[in-house]
Amino acid sequence: MKDYIIRAIDEDASFRVFIASSTNTVEKARKIHGTSPVATAALGRTLTGAALMGSMLKGDKDKLTIQFRGDGPINNILAVSNSKGEVKGYISNPDIEVEDRVDGKLNVGGAVGSNGKLIVIKDIGLKNPYIGQSNIVSGEIAEDLANYFTTSEQQPSAVALGVLVDKDISVKASGGVIVQVLPNIDEEVLTKLEKNITILSFISSLIDEGSTPEDILNQVFGEFSMKITEKKEMDFACDCSKDRMERALISLGRDELTQILEEDKQAELVCHFCNEKYNFEEKEIKELLNSI
Ligand code: ZN
Repeated sequence: MKDYIIRAIDEDASFRVFIASSTNTVEKARKIHGTSPVATAALGRTLTGAALMGSMLKGDKDKLTIQFRGDGPINNILAVSNSKGEVKGYISNPDIEVEDRVDGKLNVGGAVGSNGKLIVIKDIGLKNPYIGQSNIVSGEIAEDLANYFTTSEQQPSAVALGVLVDKDISVKASGGVIVQVLPNIDEEVLTKLEKNITILSFISSLIDEGSTPEDILNQVFGEFSMKITEKKEMDFACDCSKDRMERALISLGRDELTQILEEDKQAELVCHFCNEKYNFEEKEIKELLNSI
């Protein structure tokens, strides 16, 4: 089954929900980056969160970037998504190992670090992109994104993200949910909602048991008469191309390119996001130099 994201709203328009099943997307990222289990969980949660936030964008060309810069051994996680359910990302230390938590769960917080910055960049076609920032609170990703929504966007939100890694270190199940409270919510609904969403801490287990995003919507929010307003496929997709890599080479400048030409007579560029390799031969580098 393909990964997808649904968006839904209750009948009183007092809150909205975004739910993703992301098992295939995260498994694809694991294979590309060769991540250790804890790095798979950290990157997978970030990719799922980014895809959910990307699905809130309106324009076809809008882009969202999330960056975690924590003080843990992972160092840096970056994910870029768009409004079409496409997401890509990487992690600076994919093979990191940290001891599991006392409850036996992968210690994502320990790997990311509980100090540092979460940076969110939204490029919605304006002259300057919108840049938001908040502190990392636990490094567990979901909690950090919830804190970002509340402190940086003044949008009270609950976020749940979960990645279940199998014994053979492949991804067994992955998913995520974002619940956002709208201004006209009444106390009673809010209290019920807070009670219901505690089950979302088991999101990856729900997906592992075969629950679809629609099932989770019914199970957790059924009593609120939810209406699904959107459903879109989600996938790990990279938009790199030889053209883009050419521009990256050109941006090195004349001196550096000349040096590459003289010393190596060729260049190999690797995309950070998908590890695709791009080779430039002597003749091509000469042409690029002439075009500067
Ligand atoms: Zn790529």
